[in-house]
Amino acid sequence: MEPMRVIATCYSRQWIRTAAQHLRSKTGTRAFCIRSNSPSPLCVIRGLSGLRSNSTVSSCWYSRTFSVSAKSRRCWSCHAEVSWSELFCPSCTTLQPPDESKDFFQILDCEKSFNVDTQELQRKYRNLQRLLHPDYFSQKSEHERSVSEKQSTLVNKAYNTLLSPLSRGIYLLSLCGITLKEGADDEVETQFLFEILELNEQLNDADTNAEIEEIGSFVQGQLISLTEDTREAFQQGDLQEAKILLAKMKYFSNIQDQVKKKMIP
Ligand SMILES: [Zn+2]
Repeated sequence: MEPMRVIATCYSRQWIRTAAQHLRSKTGTRAFCIRSNSPSPLCVIRGLSGLRSNSTVSSCWYSRTFSVSAKSRRCWSCHAEVSWSELFCPSCTTLQPPDESKDFFQILDCEKSFNVDTQELQRKYRNLQRLLHPDYFSQKSEHERSVSEKQSTLVNKAYNTLLSPLSRGIYLLSLCGITLKEGADDEVETQFLFEILELNEQLNDADTNAEIEEIGSFVQGQLISLTEDTREAFQQGDLQEAKILLAKMKYFSNIQDQVKKKMIP
């Protein structure tokens, strides 16, 4: 993947976001280092191949000029100018449709990191949930009600994805163009698959809640330690390692689901 440099003649925070989004979709890169050449109105966006791997940038640069200038949009109801960051039109207070270019972290206004602060995530989510509560829209037009449903669905999806370490990790990888396939057997070593098979057999043979619980707590321990290792891998920008660890987490998480189902009430 080639690192790239973008030179623009005007910029704003929103512009940078839009251009960064554009780059992401074009190149599958996932981290951007932004530098503005003040006082001249130029900004440089770097597509990096690793979250922290600044060192990989210098070698092969190329320039490209974009003409993206989406600082704001028009309110669908009164046509006043609304910035992309605003949920409601400042003139007529109508709810605006979701910004398709935002990722889940941006939707919840949280740091794009595996290490996301889940309490902050919860706080931001509750706040949005309050603003988008169906009660506020019951007397509004059909269109605004449908906009609020779209917004609300998106916010819920973003929150549920980012809350659990497994889905957060998989999502973070997907933002970098890395997909974790269903039944990711080829990601993990054969020895690991044997261990999983054995664990599944143990669970099948378990007759009492005590036996099931023992397997459950072993699996829970494995998930905690894999989450820690995944955190470390993301911090070091080692996405391939993160991918393997997440594949393993997926196996343990499946067993955890079975444990819950098998518990005798
Ligand atoms: Zn308006």
